[in-house]
Amino acid sequence: VLPVVAIVGRPNVGKSTLFNRIINHRLAIVEDKPGVTRDRNYAQAEWLGHKFDLIDTGGITWQNGKLEDEIRAQAEIAIKEADVIVLLVSVVNHMTDLDERIAHLLYRTKKPVILAVNKADNPEQRTDIYDFYSLGLGEPIPVSSVHGTGIGDLLDKIVDAF
Ligand code: GDP
Ligand code: MG
Repeated sequence: VLPVVAIVGRPNVGKSTLFNRIINHRLAIVEDKPGVTRDRNYAQAEWLGHKFDLIDTGGITWQNGKLEDEIRAQAEIAIKEADVIVLLVSVVNHMTDLDERIAHLLYRTKKPVILAVNKADNPEQRTDIYDFYSLGLGEPIPVSSVHGTGIGDLLDKIVDAF
């Protein structure tokens, strides 16, 4: 059984872009899990010889699409199924109420939570990430899922937490 890594976060922060970046980063899409193949919410990934299953919790669709319920469900899946949780936020929109609510939901797990700040595309934005210290989840890791910067550092942190 491989360690499971779940990406959680409010809509539009770049969860699916990060998911694709990590699995293309590649050294492996070995197989998607049966049943969810089409949505590609789950994939196997590998970093420096560490294999893991990656979940994009935001890509899972719900019957009743209330945002609040969706966010809660994402957090619950992550807390229940993951060994390491990545909370993704975006430096472009600064901190939002929803980011804070998700962070709160994650306080009750003893599992490692890594805070990644996406859309840190340039040096100026990389200095803005420190605002997110106030989420109380430790050091924010700047990444740009579009440009690919910071992804290696994030993956190092993830596999260190296994
Ligand atoms: P999700 O709803 O959290 O899965 O977010 P998506 O992955 O669908 O991305 C939402 C939007 O943010 C898309 O237009 C992406 O191209 C954009 N985006 C994702 N990552 C980055 C990034 O690192 N930098 C910038 N500038 N835009 C990004
Ligand atoms: Mg998505």
